[in-house]
Amino acid sequence: MYTNKFYIIIKKHQETMNKTRQIHKQITRIHKILYKNYGVQGWWPVTDKESKRPTYKKRKKLSRNQRFEIIIGAILTQNTAWKNVEKTIIELNKKKLLDIHKIKALPLKKLSKLIKPTGYYNQKAKKIKAMIDFLKSGKEINRENLLSVWGVGPETADSILLYAYNKPFFVIDTYTKRILARMGLVKSNVSYNELQHMFHKALPRNTELFKEYHALLVEHAKKYCRTKPLCNKCVLKEECKIKRSKQ
Ligand code: SF4
Repeated sequence: MYTNKFYIIIKKHQETMNKTRQIHKQITRIHKILYKNYGVQGWWPVTDKESKRPTYKKRKKLSRNQRFEIIIGAILTQNTAWKNVEKTIIELNKKKLLDIHKIKALPLKKLSKLIKPTGYYNQKAKKIKAMIDFLKSGKEINRENLLSVWGVGPETADSILLYAYNKPFFVIDTYTKRILARMGLVKSNVSYNELQHMFHKALPRNTELFKEYHALLVEHAKKYCRTKPLCNKCVLKEECKIKRSKQ
């Protein structure tokens, strides 16, 4: 018998489904607006052979050293601004040290000194060494194995998988959480996995799309959705709950 109790369960389920569909549509729309306004981002920046610094551009293929540069960059960028990482990468490049064998051969103390501008340098030096041991172990490069490396959390693992190995894992960072929460699509305490799952469900699992969308969110957080947001000039203001609530 079709009881009232079941009707309520079904109704609730349908409401959740509708809400989820709306959020997925919003995720697509945000990408459309950001892409229209900011264009191609060319993430992750790496150093070309003839260059002295990492540059943003679309590359068909990465060299072995460029892939390694992304991996150590993903560790160095933990808890620091990218400009500090860039400074360090430029110095390592100047000393011709953007190479897994050369960094492996460096004593820990020397490596710590070289990466000092990125902060937490003693810990980060150990993390880079642990990562090199993993890369040299011959184990498969997958999310589970990366997460088992000392000092590697979901954001670092997904950045490595997406940008160094072209595997479609959406990278969630504080900027992504901030924008989506302010827009009213998630709670501010949403977990990493929950938010990543949302992006994975809303979008096709496409590596290039994931790379560029993440970069667009970072760009937006730096331009408008800052700690103190510049809502009046923001390109997402029509979509945003915070902005709407202020009107
Ligand atoms: S309107 Fe304000 S809070 Fe909303 S996304 Fe733009 S800058 Fe962020």
